[in-house]
Amino acid sequence: MSSFYDLTFDELRDMLAGRGQPGYRAQQLYEWAYKRLAGDYRDMTVLPAALRASLANELPLDVLTPVREIETDDGDTVKVLYRTADGQTIETVLMYYADRATVCVSCQVGCAVGCSFCATGMGGLQRNLTTGEMVAQVIDMARRARRRGRPLTNIVMMGMGEPFHNYAAVMKMVAILHDARGMQVGARRITLSTSGVVPFIDRLASEPFQVNLAISIHAADDALRSELVPLNRRWPLDELLGAVRRYIRQTGRRVSFEYALIADVNDRDDDAWNLARRLRGLLCHVNLIPLNPTPAAPYQRPSADRIARFERILVEAGIPTTVRYSRGVEIAAACGQLRAQHAPVTAQPPLMGENHG
Ligand code: SAH
Ligand code: SF4
Repeated sequence: MSSFYDLTFDELRDMLAGRGQPGYRAQQLYEWAYKRLAGDYRDMTVLPAALRASLANELPLDVLTPVREIETDDGDTVKVLYRTADGQTIETVLMYYADRATVCVSCQVGCAVGCSFCATGMGGLQRNLTTGEMVAQVIDMARRARRRGRPLTNIVMMGMGEPFHNYAAVMKMVAILHDARGMQVGARRITLSTSGVVPFIDRLASEPFQVNLAISIHAADDALRSELVPLNRRWPLDELLGAVRRYIRQTGRRVSFEYALIADVNDRDDDAWNLARRLRGLLCHVNLIPLNPTPAAPYQRPSADRIARFERILVEAGIPTTVRYSRGVEIAAACGQLRAQHAPVTAQPPLMGENHG
């Protein structure tokens, strides 16, 4: 069954027109759902009671049920575990910063890519999330932020799942959240992170919405990258970086690279030099994410010295670089960990944090 949050403005308008509703109804509904963040049709008192009742049946607003939530960093990181209508559990993280509030959204239950350091990937893919389930994560977090007197400003697709394996539903989510009659989130406040599904990098370059693109690179040579990110066997680094170059040429937009730093795996000086060589001349920024260890894999986080040295090599080579520690590690805000604690699945999934954004 679809929910209210599955419908673009035009789809909603057509559906209402088919029922003989006046043209301004869609506008009213979008305003109540996305600007006022109403969670119940009964609150939408401008609508006729009969319409409210039928919408509550046909296009529910309560697609996700929060089943657990935890806070850390003095409340600046909030992680919520939601249950879907079919009993799956997914995680979403809200992170408050001085100047913005960012939601880290999941796009799949599990993930088929199977990166060796990432707990989400270890259980394989259960299913794609629907557009409505992704929009609902954002709306629920926007309500929480509003209760704290803060607007939700940024959206990062860095929760569970590979956005480019659920491309159409993700882009529809972008269209709905971007709509000026609703939430009106600027495309530049939305970031999609991919492990490197090359055909969709080209596809994204020609979309009308110029969202931010983040590439999870993690290694600068093919043998190591194929070990960490199995998808690299299909689309090795030359192809991946070729697509990134085309993307930058076409959009003029800066691309971020994420690099999870893993002790004695990809944190040597040589790795940093190789990465710098690969990225030289690209309009880009590197985010170094010190690994968030998960019980399912033997990897460790490098020492602070090692992390600083890796960063320095990149910076001295002229690559803009930031070290981003993930938020909420102590509350298992590492994405998928809360889900694993709640209803033990296969393994401990990855982290979320503003490194993811
Ligand atoms: N599937 C997408 C987006 C979700 S993961 C992708 O891979 O890009 C968001 C980021 O967190 C990715 O860069 C991912 O590689 C990284 N990540 C996953 N598990 C991690 C861990 N245990 N420690 C540090 N970063 C991790
Ligand atoms: Fe999937 Fe991203 Fe985890 Fe890799 S890092 S398994 S692509 S969620």
